[in-house]
Amino acid sequence: MAVTLPKITPLSFPMIEIEEAWRLIREHTSPLPPREFRFTEALGLILCEDVVAPEDVPPFPASVVDGYALRAEDGQHPRRVLGEQTAGYVAELAVGPNEAVWITTGAPVPRGANAVVKVEDTETHNGHIVPKVVIQPGDNIRPVGHDIRKGDVVLPKGTQLGPAEIGILATVNALQVLAHPRPRVAVMSTGDEIREPGTTLAPGQIRDSNRYTLMAAVTQLGGVPLDLGPVPDQEETLRAALARGIAEADMIISSGGVSMGSRDLLKPILADMGHIHFGRVRVKPGKPVTFATINGTPVFALPGNPVSALVSFYLYAALAMRILSGHPTWQHPQTQVKLAHSITREPGRVEFQRAKAWREGATIWARTTGPQASSRLLSMVGANVLLRLEAEWEHIPEGTEVEAIVLEPLGLEATP
Ligand code: AMP
Ligand code: MG
Repeated sequence: MAVTLPKITPLSFPMIEIEEAWRLIREHTSPLPPREFRFTEALGLILCEDVVAPEDVPPFPASVVDGYALRAEDGQHPRRVLGEQTAGYVAELAVGPNEAVWITTGAPVPRGANAVVKVEDTETHNGHIVPKVVIQPGDNIRPVGHDIRKGDVVLPKGTQLGPAEIGILATVNALQVLAHPRPRVAVMSTGDEIREPGTTLAPGQIRDSNRYTLMAAVTQLGGVPLDLGPVPDQEETLRAALARGIAEADMIISSGGVSMGSRDLLKPILADMGHIHFGRVRVKPGKPVTFATINGTPVFALPGNPVSALVSFYLYAALAMRILSGHPTWQHPQTQVKLAHSITREPGRVEFQRAKAWREGATIWARTTGPQASSRLLSMVGANVLLRLEAEWEHIPEGTEVEAIVLEPLGLEATP
């Protein structure tokens, strides 16, 4: 280890509350500059401009049903059928008194007609069709601009583009849109004991799970992971990995190497390469979580325990990803849940326990996912919320309402 590293340990940093950590992340992270994207490449992105309809939709009066285009004012009189108008072209037909044209859904309504009657609502007599229902002008016709009016802002700036929004872009011919790019997030795991899955472990070695967990979490949140590999606890290799992350990514996430051990080098290296904004948060799990910037690039050095790493990802790194992506709301969705059982815990830090929430009538219940040790990644498996237990709480009775951070859309089933 180089002698140049300053003597920095977690104790060099004040213990801050999570709200202060969130404030610091917000203060030191900003949205990535917008770029042009082809609309087919824009799923999940946040728009940086209003999208305006250049023309009416539909651009012609269109039939809503399969049936007959006719004049409403001719009432129940039999109609002579002049021909057909199917979708996709304009037939040279004009509907006069007591005449009709066979028309299909989406086809332009012929000149002279002011209504369409469904085929099910007609009868045929001597080669003529007879409406069985009262017809009003405009029946079963989508007029010009019925769905979208020319000049309408169909998608305002700040919209996140989902499947329906991509379809709207196609409809209004917005082939290129200005949006915030997906953040490129470099991910590395640190530790002399960490080995790739698939290799034979020597005594004292363990498999790298964090890098795979974190790259998957980055992808799930709409980011593009960049794999910096497993990095041993050596100053030079750690510096080189960070430098590559700074050069190639918009944000860096590491796991391990931020606690009090003699091989926990990340804090002094980050302090030397950039600026550390916090190095200790009064939260369980993940107290030694560290947030730094190097030349403006956010770096989240997460603790190595697999649960601490993933919970800290959600609590801090995910928020920075949302800010980089230009989300108008940078906070996680939250909800109130009721505890399905009592919890007894050691007070002192705000704790985020992993739980499965489900809905029963108007109530969302939650049950923790078993032992909450920060090494036990199985406590994250099946968890769809993080319960927020306040620092001073010790005995929390069954039925207590608590705040929960929602990790997955709560399309909850009525089963625990
Ligand atoms: P550290 O934060 O480096 O002190 O690591 C804390 C604990 O997490 C140790 O038991 C490590 O072996 C374990 N750990 C660190 N990194 C990983 C990883 N990438 N995958 C699985 N476990 C890890
Ligand atoms: Mg370590």
